[in-house]
Formats: sequence, C-alpha cells, structure tokens
Amino acid sequence: MNLSEAFSRAVPVEVLLPTTDSIALVCDSPHSGTAYPADFGYCVATADLRKSEDTYVHWLWDAVPRVGGTLVHATFPRSYIDPNRHENDIDVTMLADPWPGGVAPTARSLALGNGLVSSLTITRQPIYARRLPAHEVAHRIEHYWRPYRHALTQALEMAASNGPRWHLNLHSMPSNAYERLGRVAPAPLADVVLGDLQGRSCSANFTEIVTEAFRQQGYTVAVNEPYAGQDLLRRFGEPSRGHESLQIELNRAIYLDEQTRELLPRASAVREDIAKVLHQIAEHIHSVTAVSS
Ligand SMILES: [Zn+2]
Repeated sequence: MNLSEAFSRAVPVEVLLPTTDSIALVCDSPHSGTAYPADFGYCVATADLRKSEDTYVHWLWDAVPRVGGTLVHATFPRSYIDPNRHENDIDVTMLADPWPGGVAPTARSLALGNGLVSSLTITRQPIYARRLPAHEVAHRIEHYWRPYRHALTQALEMAASNGPRWHLNLHSMPSNAYERLGRVAPAPLADVVLGDLQGRSCSANFTEIVTEAFRQQGYTVAVNEPYAGQDLLRRFGEPSRGHESLQIELNRAIYLDEQTRELLPRASAVREDIAKVLHQIAEHIHSVTAVSS
C-alpha cells in the first residue's frame, strides 16, 4: 500500500458531489466498503466475511453526480460496523464489559447476528473468538458509524433546505436471499427489490415511478419482498413532509460473482441501465420541483 492509498483508506465515508446543476437527490451506499480496518480482530476467513458486502454498489450507481445528485458511500465493511443499524442495536452478550450507552437490539438482528456490530457471518459462523471490549465498539461508532451518519445527514439537509427531497438507499442482496433469511421462497427472487417500510418511508407514487423505470430496462421488480428497509429509511423517510426515502436492493447474481466478489462481464451493462433509471428519476424530480417552485 502506498501513502495515498493509506490515506484514502483512512477515510470512512466518501461523498461525491453533483457535477451538474444540483437536484434534491441523495443516494447512499452503506454496505459497499471493502477496506477492512486493522483493528477488526475477526477469526473467520475474510472470504466468508466478504459475503455480507454489497460489493461495487457505489460503482454501479456512479452516474448519481452526473444527474445532479449526491452519492455518499462507506469505505469500511458493514461487518465491522453497520451504518444502516440504530446506534443502540447492540447485542451486549458480545461484549467483555458493560455497555455505557443505550441498548435496544431488534429481534431480527439478535436472530441473524447482524445488528450494529455483527456477531455472525451470513452463514451463521461466529465472527469473533473473543468478547469485544466496549471501547472497541465505541471507537467504531465514533470513527466510522457517526461520520457516515453525519455525512449523509448533511447531504440530505443541503438537498432539502426547502421543499421535497429524495433519498435512495442503495444495496445488493444475495441471490439466495430467502435461504439466508431462513424462509421458503414464495417466488423467484426479483432482480430489483424496492423497500419503503410498507409505505412509511416513501410515497406510493415515487415507489411506482422507480418500479416502472427498472421494468423499462428489462428488470423484474418486487416491493418490500423480502426486504422492506432498515434504520436509514426509518431515520430519513417522512413522505408526509415530502421526504422520500426508498431502499433499492439489486440481486447480486446480475452483476457479481458471489464467490470471488469479482464483477461479471454484464456489470457494465447493468451500470448503464442504472444510469438510465437515474435519468428518469431526475426527470421526475425536475417535474415536481418545477411545479412546486
Ligand atoms: Zn446492504
């Protein structure tokens, strides 16, 4: 690693600003980071840990600045600490000493071992052969989780100084998502799964516009099945105030070799299709803001 690489790896979050006239669109990719911090201290194979990455998602969506939006993405892996979990979503049984902050783990994160700090890999292997000192978790919150949340909050506030705003929370999902969730698949997993917390984080109209934009590019789309959204949607989505927050999960089988984490040859075409989807979303945003201004 040369010096500039060392510095860029030290930055927990990157923010790509609009390269054209800005619109009230902010996209964020909390799980595509691949820089594993030296103090992680895990005991499993890195290849197993990497299966929870949404590898390359920020690259797939790199047209965001070109349509006037801001793209925020994490550089650290979600298995280290997850920006899409509440700060209190902590499993205290992982810790070596008492936790000084709030504790409110969800039943789902306890069951899957994937709260704020994951205890299990996606194949349910224990990530640590030790209990984590509380100060290590506090360090991750302070130097990774909080800077990410801060950058995203700032980008959203800048986008919506007045009037409506649009937030796309970007992810990718394993092609065996149902198996991972311990469920029998009711139907084949869609290419794209949109999540709007069952209508609580986003208007039905905007979810429909994004659904149609992907369908026009030839993708199958499902809504809230099997993923409806997590903490970033709960935090930022408030459709009654015009704050639209929509989660977008891409099926990894369409762009990634899930074993090696290398891009498939088709990935460039997927990226171009996403750019077209973004142009349609930007057109919608322009039409709404033209009416309201
Ligand atoms: Zn994700």
